[in-house]
Order: sequence, then C-alpha cells, then structure tokens
Amino acid sequence: MRRTYMDANATTPLLPEVMEAMRPYWMEQFGNASSIYQQGQQARTAVDRARETLAEMLNCHDAEVVFNSGGTEGDNTAIFGLLRPGDQLVTTSIEHSAVLRAAERMAERGVEVTFVAPLPNGLIEPEEIKRAVRPETRLGNSRRILISVMLANNETGVLQPVEEIGKIAAEAGAFFHIDAVQGAGKVELDVRRFGCHLLSISAHKMHGPKGVGAMFVRRGTPIDPLVVGGSHERRQRAGTENVPGIVGMGKAAELAMESLGDGTIERVAGLRDRLEAGILKIAGTGVNGAGAPRTANTTNIRFEQVEGEALVIALDLKGVAVSGGSACHSGSTEPSHVLMAMGLDKNAARASLRFSLLRTASDDDVEHVLRVVPEAVEHLRALSPEAAGTLG
Ligand code: PLP
Repeated sequence: MRRTYMDANATTPLLPEVMEAMRPYWMEQFGNASSIYQQGQQARTAVDRARETLAEMLNCHDAEVVFNSGGTEGDNTAIFGLLRPGDQLVTTSIEHSAVLRAAERMAERGVEVTFVAPLPNGLIEPEEIKRAVRPETRLGNSRRILISVMLANNETGVLQPVEEIGKIAAEAGAFFHIDAVQGAGKVELDVRRFGCHLLSISAHKMHGPKGVGAMFVRRGTPIDPLVVGGSHERRQRAGTENVPGIVGMGKAAELAMESLGDGTIERVAGLRDRLEAGILKIAGTGVNGAGAPRTANTTNIRFEQVEGEALVIALDLKGVAVSGGSACHSGSTEPSHVLMAMGLDKNAARASLRFSLLRTASDDDVEHVLRVVPEAVEHLRALSPEAAGTLG
C-alpha cells in the first residue's frame, strides 16, 4: 500500500545529504572534540563548521550559538536559566508543553507567570503582551522579566508577530525568548530583526537528526546553564558534543536556507493550499487558524461530527499518517490546549486534524490524501451516534 507521511511537524526524515554528511563521524572520525590530537581536531573543525552555518542561518555570531539536545532543552534553558523567584514570565497559552510545563514549575518556585491567550484565529496580540508586563517591574529594579513566545505554532502553523513583541520587550527592558522550532526551515530566522535574546531550534523538525538542537544566546544574556560539568559550549552546556548530530544539524540548516530561496517553500505552500481546498469541499469542515499568517506546510482542519482520533486511525489504515493535535499529545485523549485556547469547544477540538507536509512532499502525496479523506470522513459520520439517531 502507498504510504503518505503528512506529519512533518511531529518529525521529519533525514535528507540523504544530511545522512552522508554525518556518516564519517560515527566511525572513522569518532574523536572527542575536546581532544588535542588529530581525531579530536577533526571533530572540533566539524563542530565549528556547523556552528558557522547555524550562525548564518540565525544571523548571529558563532559565539552566540550553543548546541544542545533539541527544542525541549532550549525552551527549558531559557526559562530555568534566566528566572529566579520574584521575577516575571510572560508567555502564551498556546506554547509547546516544553514551555508550558517549565512555566508551571517556575510558578511553583515563586516566579510570577502570565499566560496570554490568542485571538480566535490563533494570533497573539502584541498589545496583550505589553499589558501583561507589569509596569512596576519596568523601573529598573533587579527583577527580571522574560517574554517567551513561539514563532510558529506546531498545531496550526500560525506565525506570531515576533518582531513587534521584540520591540515591546526592548521598551520594557525585558528579555525575549523565541521558540522557533516550527519556524526553522519554513521562514527566515533573523535574531537581530526579531530583537530576541534567546531562540531555540531543533534539528529533527528540519530534516536533521533527532536529539540535537541549537540555541541562540545573545552575548551578555545572564543564563545559568541547565547542564553543568565540563567547559563545553563556552561553559553554557556541558557534555561531550554529539559530533555526528551537530554535523547533521549543520547540513540540515544549510539545506533549509537553500530551500527558502529556491522556490521550495512556495511549492510546498501550493501543495498545502491544494490539499486544504480539496478537503474543504467536504461539508462541515473548516480551517483552524484561517486568516492568520501560517507556515507553508501546515493546515489544521476540523471535521464536524467526526472523532479526530478515529479519523487518524482510519487514515493510517489507508496509508496516510497525520496527527490529531500535537505529536506530544498523541495517546492522550485530552483535547488540544491550543485549539481550546482559540475558543473551540472540546468536540470541535477533538474533531480537528493537523496535516503537515514535508519539504519533499509531492503532487501524488496530496492526491493520495484527497482520495482517502472524503471516504473516511463519510464512513465515520455514517457510524456516528448523531447520524444513527441513537442520541435520542
Ligand atoms: N517547541 C515546539 C513548538 C515543538 O513543536 C517541539 C516539538 O514538537 C518542541 C518545542 C520540542 O522539540 P524537541 O522535540 O526537539 O525536544
């Protein structure tokens, strides 16, 4: 059976070039990047090269790039590394759980935490962020304020106005962290333009390996490392570098930059639009996040009178992999916190599916999905208690 993977926001496969770039660093060039002899220096050179590529991608200095284990670590580091009891964290109710759970833990430790809700289309209003920053904290006392807002939402693809939020952070004397995990490889990343102090990305969301990520830490930002030990990563993240992973991330970043300039993103957007238009022909459907700027590869669609989880399973049986909510929620029956924050009721949130296209998606992928979704929806609706008239 043909299989079509449409869950790129959960993870992506390595591109062949990434696999090839990583290959020598598992066996022949296995050195520890801290060793002074030849094998070590080869590893060091490879890590430095990857760092230069990441610095180019983010528009920062090499010394401002810290390699880590991925998006969760970056998000945690920003929050745990900067804030102390009495400080303030302003974030949103649609962040990834890597931010939300860290924020909850900081609230237990005496940090004042404010969650800003989005508009019904999923956009965060910069004015709401501004209002949440407490005025008495702006007067130059030692209380730190951290604003943490994602660049692109993992469930809806909605792109947040980070530049405007960066200006607000600057005016308020606040630190600004961006979870850019779902933006990397889909939109230009420019930490200077964004006005952020910290920014987190993850390799496996952009056709790189799992378990490796990078963080931009603006020079002089007072971050306590989350992981301590050796003096790796300028003492900002201890532990022997994951050389193959870092090399893979460097290659993935290089290819991601290329894809932003060679028409790939426009091609993916065209496929996504065709997919979306095709699915919307089914009665009782709608796009969550419609009208807001979104990443090119994502659409989140609600199907009235359908149990989302049942549809995910039905589509899997027909060879199509999609997600009903964020990947980290699969297996849980809780409706998506993102869709609920956008004002959907539990049933509508549960009836929503995320289709997220790989950079390598094809016309055939879209056709396959458009062939199987209408019949799966029709079948499930025919089985629903409402259709059967068994609800009384
Ligand atoms: N932030 C966002 C927006 C994500 O989508 C994810 C992954 O789903 C993460 C953070 C966590 O990244 P990682 O899987 O690299 O820990």
